[in-house]
Amino acid sequence: MNLPYNAFPLDQDPYDVRGFPHRLYIGGQWRPSSDGGLIEVTDPSSGAVIAAVPDATLEDAAAAVEAAAKAAKGWRQTAPRKRSEILRRCFELMVERSETLAMLISLENGKALRDARGEVAYAAEFFRWNAEEAVRITGEFGTAPSGANRIVVDYQPIGICILITPWNFPAAMATRKIAPALAAGCTVILKPASETPLTAYALAALYSEAGVPDGVVNVLTTSTPGTLTSAILADPRVRKLSFTGSTGIGRALLAEAAKHVTSCSMELGGNAPFIVFDDADLDAAIDGAMIAKMRNAGEACTAANRIYVQSGIHDAFADGLAQRMAALKIGAGTKADTECGPMITKKAVDKIDRLVKDAVNRGAKALCGGSVPEGDGFFYPPTVLSEVSPDADMAHEEIFGPVAPITRFESEAQAIFHANNTEYGLAAYLYTRDVARGMRVAAEIEAGMIGLNRGLMSDPAAPFGGVKQSGLGREGGQHHGIAEFMEAKYIAVTF
Ligand code: NAP
Repeated sequence: MNLPYNAFPLDQDPYDVRGFPHRLYIGGQWRPSSDGGLIEVTDPSSGAVIAAVPDATLEDAAAAVEAAAKAAKGWRQTAPRKRSEILRRCFELMVERSETLAMLISLENGKALRDARGEVAYAAEFFRWNAEEAVRITGEFGTAPSGANRIVVDYQPIGICILITPWNFPAAMATRKIAPALAAGCTVILKPASETPLTAYALAALYSEAGVPDGVVNVLTTSTPGTLTSAILADPRVRKLSFTGSTGIGRALLAEAAKHVTSCSMELGGNAPFIVFDDADLDAAIDGAMIAKMRNAGEACTAANRIYVQSGIHDAFADGLAQRMAALKIGAGTKADTECGPMITKKAVDKIDRLVKDAVNRGAKALCGGSVPEGDGFFYPPTVLSEVSPDADMAHEEIFGPVAPITRFESEAQAIFHANNTEYGLAAYLYTRDVARGMRVAAEIEAGMIGLNRGLMSDPAAPFGGVKQSGLGREGGQHHGIAEFMEAKYIAVTF
């Protein structure tokens, strides 16, 4: 699709891909940045510029905090049932508009439409789930051990939240934060990734239509995220930072938030092991690997980054996976038959290329793919490498692309050692028909989430998050996600 540069007027149907608003969204108003600056948005399948969004200034950031502060009292006092109904309406509108939203995600992120459709469905579920949770926020009541008083614990919205999201799930990473924050009664400022801002703005229009009051959700894009985030965090009314992105930026933000003792939730990088034992169902393990590796063409924090296969099943698994990977259709995400879209940037392709070359230099063999294709766009082909050394750089860094590195192992203890030999601890996958072994190994693996005979575990109803350098806090799940946006107030009562 060839969209004219910066040619989206504000008075068209906001759900027309060619006509939705994509200015700063502050206090319910669409506006340019205070100095007129712009950030260009690129179609990764061609490298062409498709739009430009405002480059927010410190003045715009202050206006967003002011708008969130103005709306805070009204929103926290809105009845939970009413908040729930508005969130439910966000879910319904996302489902109604899912095709348009999916097309927009494909366009700016590059992911195949089938992945984009999956993302919209997943993203919408956060509204449905949190609409259901919003009316079930409870407190505690007890008697002090001394008998002197009663203990009442009330959970209250934490305050204004700044939410920072990455480009790999432009809709879901935003709704996974916005829905629980709103359910808890907080007002928010969302800063989406510069590569994929259009989806965030399209969704802002949808929230407004669903009845989210002006100022409850504010959205701004900036080319200077560090400067703006520091300024926002320095405002004492801002009490929460919820970040999803790389571990490096997460660490820097934790240090910044520490200056103001601001509550932080951190959903950071991953390096998921995918372990296949000899007794696994081979077809199920290959199906699972295709999902765990190729959802979003490998651009997922939960992506299988290291595949460990026991000797007895190794060759059959490697051949089967290579056949399936080689058959995938590569192309622009917006094309109906594409199965593997482009990477987000040329820089991402260069990183994958470096990691593959390093693995091959250390003895890995490419069973399919393995080199950057000629032509426009930021493509890398589905690649399977066997005999990958545990010392290869890709065993320690996120590949974030369609490369499946296979390493052979012999014993259960070896598999556990490899799996835990990383600073990350987000997700892990295990395939075995022996459930006792599956549960035993799952207990030993240092990760926040385990897929046991499953290649996909993301679910708004379950707590998503990591251990070690993969982060702090959880999103989704019963109470977990909302609890990140609330704080306990204890009242000692004598009567
Ligand atoms: P990133 O470079 O860390 O950026 C994430 C967000 O932080 C973007 O909005 C970015 O803005 C912003 N940012 C960059 N520097 C900042 C600063 N100094 N202060 C404040 N904000 C700043 O990550 P990414 O490349 O977008 O995303 C990929 C990473 O996210 C991977 O490591 C992946 O594993 C991780 N991830 C984790 C999860 C999870 O749930 N654990 C989910 C998805 C992705 P700009 O775009 O303007 O730079």
